[in-house]
Amino acid sequence: MAQSDVRVRFAPSPTGPLHMGGVRTALFNFLFARKYGGTFVLRIEDTDQTRYVEGAEQYIMDSLQWCGLGFDEGVYEGGDYGPYRQSERQKLYRQYAEKMVREGTAYYAFDTSQELDAMRKRLKEQKSDIQHYNAVTRGAMKNSLTLDEEEVNRRINEGAPYVIRFKMPEEQHITVNDRIRGEVEVNTNQLDDKVLFKSDGLPTYHLANVVDDHEMKISHVIRGEEWLPSLPLHFMLYEALGWGNEMPEFAHLPLILNPDGKGKLSKRDGQKKGFPVFPMQWTDPESGETFPGYKESGYLPEAFINILAFLGWNPGTERELYTLDQLIEAFDLDQVGKAGSKFDPDKAKWFNHQYLMEKSDNDLAELFMPVLREKGIEASREYVSQVCHLVKERVYLIGEIWEQSYFFFQPPREYDSKMVKKKWKAHTPGLLGELKDHLTQLEPFEAEAIKQTVQEFTQEKEIGMGQVMLPLRISLVGTGMGPDVAQIAEMLGKQETIRRVEQAIRNIG
Ligand code: GLU
Repeated sequence: MAQSDVRVRFAPSPTGPLHMGGVRTALFNFLFARKYGGTFVLRIEDTDQTRYVEGAEQYIMDSLQWCGLGFDEGVYEGGDYGPYRQSERQKLYRQYAEKMVREGTAYYAFDTSQELDAMRKRLKEQKSDIQHYNAVTRGAMKNSLTLDEEEVNRRINEGAPYVIRFKMPEEQHITVNDRIRGEVEVNTNQLDDKVLFKSDGLPTYHLANVVDDHEMKISHVIRGEEWLPSLPLHFMLYEALGWGNEMPEFAHLPLILNPDGKGKLSKRDGQKKGFPVFPMQWTDPESGETFPGYKESGYLPEAFINILAFLGWNPGTERELYTLDQLIEAFDLDQVGKAGSKFDPDKAKWFNHQYLMEKSDNDLAELFMPVLREKGIEASREYVSQVCHLVKERVYLIGEIWEQSYFFFQPPREYDSKMVKKKWKAHTPGLLGELKDHLTQLEPFEAEAIKQTVQEFTQEKEIGMGQVMLPLRISLVGTGMGPDVAQIAEMLGKQETIRRVEQAIRNIG
């Protein structure tokens, strides 16, 4: 399907649920791939076994599917560059790590964690500028640069634990270009000899990520800002592996900030302020704690996507509503800013409202029927569609359809005492009783005719419409809300309307 050399990847680690920031990264990669007729790859980065979380991979897949972000290559799609799970590519990483050792760009290190701690303590006491493993300090440590070859081989053959570290060159000024941030400059003295290969026989993120991006012919690395500090190291790794001329282009997306604009949006922010930060509901397999998701909170996937698109990207016009196809058309990586983007939960609801309003009554009914079924309520599709038509203007989340429409499906269980106090006078039951008799005569029982009956009745009594309309609403709904009361009555039908009026007269008195 791909018509171009653009190949991008989404590379999540299954260490927990995918945060909405992660979905945004996937979305921007997807949009970029689709825009340029490229290929969108899913790669699961699961080499850190200590952080592996049961169910996380499936959660990631399900969430992206809900959002409509399909892959061209990946764990399930297959492809020419698989396997697409890093845990199934271990041999490859070892080969490259060993190659680097042979070529002198990496080395074996045998230091125990106590020895590493002692090094850090020593450097701290000396108030040294450099407090990490690098060109200045590596000479005093136990590694294949300080031990002779025989000793190194002996240790390895005896099965002594070791890691492979990158030999970061000394005093080298490097400049890496980032599509969003421009030139990122750093002196290699500020960087350390990162572990590339761990004693458990698995690569670290850095090695596996660079090797795979190269092997999978990734043309553009579009990822979150948290990876920007790793960019110089990745640049050096490409150079060391001899791939300096084939480096992908890098683009680090801005942070998503919490609604106060103070710090990265976290799941705690969501909990405190009552909005989801995950695409779908997630239950932590260890603690059993459940976090809400956009899906279960009543958001439409097309709204969620639109919300995410505007967290970092801006088309530079007033327009805010874009379907996925329209986003593909409009998206431009060069319109992604570097400043953190504040998440506004009210605006998110506004987006959802816009998409709910655009849905046909029938489609809304389709979304709402399961909510009704769960409550044990049976109603015809046609009836539910009509209800949706009447209330959708007031609804921001799918679940709110119920809050706005329960009275179409069940009589009031109680009456809003404040409303009753204000609008239900001593003469109200008498008036409603008389009105009921007029309504009983009405045929057909339709909104316009109901309104007219009330109008004629109030004129005859020389009272304001409100004196009857509001008590009628209280009788049918239980409170002062809802769409036009005559329309509610028509929907309920004559028999049910009369029944509710009688019930209110009896219960409120
Ligand atoms: N596995 C990394 C993550 O979980 C991927 C970072 C990258 O895209 O390079 O975010």
